[in-house]
Amino acid sequence: MTLDQKWSQAMRILITNDDGIHAPGLKALARAASGLGEVKVCAPDRERSACGHSMTMREPLRVRSAEGWSLPAYEVNGVPTDCVNVGLTELWPEGCDLILSGINAGPNLGFDITYSGTAAGAMEGTINGIRSMAISMAIFVSDAPAHFETGEEWLVENWPMLLGLPLDHLTFLNINIPAIASPELQGHAFVGMGERVYKDRVERREDPWGRPYWWQGGVVVMDPSDEGADVWAVSRGKVAITPVSLDWTNRRLLDAYRMRD
Ligand code: MN
Repeated sequence: MTLDQKWSQAMRILITNDDGIHAPGLKALARAASGLGEVKVCAPDRERSACGHSMTMREPLRVRSAEGWSLPAYEVNGVPTDCVNVGLTELWPEGCDLILSGINAGPNLGFDITYSGTAAGAMEGTINGIRSMAISMAIFVSDAPAHFETGEEWLVENWPMLLGLPLDHLTFLNINIPAIASPELQGHAFVGMGERVYKDRVERREDPWGRPYWWQGGVVVMDPSDEGADVWAVSRGKVAITPVSLDWTNRRLLDAYRMRD
């Protein structure tokens, strides 16, 4: 692997996820990043998927050294946002060069980004002014293999490309890798955020005592024909790479509103 001159020194890397410290995708990401520099891991002590960009404020955060790791790894009783902030304070007090979040066991396409704890890890890194990436395996059938080995291989091969991409202030990379065997990958595509909405989101059921409860899930509706969107890319076996800006301002409307003054 040849890296840009700029990235040739060992990088200081912080890794987190939202699937928890024991998730196989986290280990795959740590292995993939180990060739880039010094990796430290700070991740939730249990699965916190779909926690979004929440943070823990009303209770103390406890940090413990995690077992089963050959590099510095810590588990936190919090969410990815907490983990990034604890990691930056305690593990990399001098700052770090790269924050990676993942590899998530499931896609983070379209509006998923707003629910995603994986994306939130990268968002928090971005807010701290550090180059950040959220990485997910696009699995669409529950219990289908996640193919983390595909993600790991693809990342190792593509770090120079990914680290060479110019980034703007407040922008991170959201990367979705199709959950298929490596030889089946159809390269990568730079794409926009697609539309992925959930139908029949809340299901009403009854417990054994006849009391109703509700379970959120629902069928995902997405339009893979929307060429140029992340959903389109992964449905064609391509790794989807999207630059996501934390500036949610609609500039076109803002300009239009100002014209009315
Ligand atoms: Mn997750």
